[in-house]
Amino acid sequence: MYNRVINFAAGPSTLPLEVLEEIREDLMNYKGTGMSVMEMSHRSKTYLSIFDDTKKTLRRVMSIPDDYEILFIQGGATEQFSAIPLNLLAGGKGYYLVTGSFANKAYKEALRYGDAICLYDGSAKSYRHIPNENEYVLPKEASYVYLCSNNTIYGTEWQTYPDTKDIPLVADMSSDIMSRPIDISKFGLIYAGAQKNMGIAGLAAVIIRKDLIGKHSSITPTLMQYSIQAKGDSMYNTPPTFSIYVLGLMAKWVEKMGGLEAMQKRNEEKAKLLYDYLDQSSFYEGRADRESRSMMNVSFFTPSKELDDKFVKESIEAGMSNLKGHREAGGLRASIYNAMTIDNVKVLIEFMKKFEKENA
Ligand SMILES: *Cc1c(COP(=O)(O)O)cnc(C)c1O
Repeated sequence: MYNRVINFAAGPSTLPLEVLEEIREDLMNYKGTGMSVMEMSHRSKTYLSIFDDTKKTLRRVMSIPDDYEILFIQGGATEQFSAIPLNLLAGGKGYYLVTGSFANKAYKEALRYGDAICLYDGSAKSYRHIPNENEYVLPKEASYVYLCSNNTIYGTEWQTYPDTKDIPLVADMSSDIMSRPIDISKFGLIYAGAQKNMGIAGLAAVIIRKDLIGKHSSITPTLMQYSIQAKGDSMYNTPPTFSIYVLGLMAKWVEKMGGLEAMQKRNEEKAKLLYDYLDQSSFYEGRADRESRSMMNVSFFTPSKELDDKFVKESIEAGMSNLKGHREAGGLRASIYNAMTIDNVKVLIEFMKKFEKENA
C-alpha cells in the first residue's frame, strides 16, 4: 500500500506500521489541540499528559519497580558512556565486561574519569563470544559492574546476567530492551537509546535505582547529573518531546501485542527461523558462537566478500534494505527487532535460499 521496503536496519530501525499510521493521524492536529506534538510546549497540559502516560506505560510494560526512576535524556546511548562513570564511580572502581565495540567505547570513556577496569576482553575472540561465569572473576567490591546486554554490531547477547550481589549491575540495553521480560531488580541501572527497539533517535531512557541517584562527581555537567534529571522529572531543559511521544506509542504497541512475554515468543520464533536456516546451510556461516547468539541482530557471512556484496545488491533489488554488516564487522546482518514481522523474516529466508542455490 505504501510501497515500503523490508528494513533490516540496526538503528534507527523499522517501526510498526500501526505506530507510523498513528503518528500520521496525530501529526497535523493532535487530538483536537490544533497542533502537532512537535509544536507543543513541553510544559503544556497536553504534553505533560503524553509524558506521564509514556512513563506509566513503560513502567507497566517493563514491570519497573517503584524504587526505580525513569529518566528521558537527550544525547543518545553514547552520552551515557560518560554519564555513568560521572554519576556512579564516586571515587570507587567500575568493572567492564567488554563483549563488543559499544562496551569498549563505554570502558574507554570511563577511563577518562576514574578507575575503570576491564573484567573481560572479548576482542581476542573477535567479539563472537559472551563469557560464562568461569571466564571472569567478579570483584568483591565496586561502584558498579558494567555490561552491554546485546552486541548490536557483532550479534551476540547475554542469555543470563552475572549475579553481582550487592554491586550495582549497569547494562546498556540499547538493542534488546523490551525484547523479552527482565527482572529489573537485578540491576542498578539500565539504559537504552530509543532508536533500536523502542522508537526513534534523540532519546535515551535511563532506569535507575533511586538510591544510586546523587553520587555524581563535582565535574559532572549539570545536564548529565541524574539527580538534576530526576528532580526536574527529565525537564530541567527541553526534553526530546517527539521521541518521548513515539516511545509511548511503541510501549503501548508492545502492550497491545501481549506484552514482553509475547514479544519474547515472537522474537524467539524469528531468530530460530533464521539461525535454523543458517545452521543447515553449508553456504552461509553464522558469526556468533552458538550459545552467545543475539535474538535481535543476526550476523552471518556468505563464502566470500564478493558474494556478501552481491547479496546486498540483490537483496535491495528484492525489496529489502540494510542487510550489509556494520562497517567495523563486515559480512551481513539482519536486525530483527520487535517491529520486524515473522512474515518478513520468512521473505528474507526465501531470498537467502534462492541466493544460495544460484551461487553455491
Ligand atoms: C546503537 C547503540 C549505541 C549507540 O547509540 P547512540 O544513540 O547512537 O548513541 C550504544 N550501545 C548499543 C548497544 C547500541 O546498539
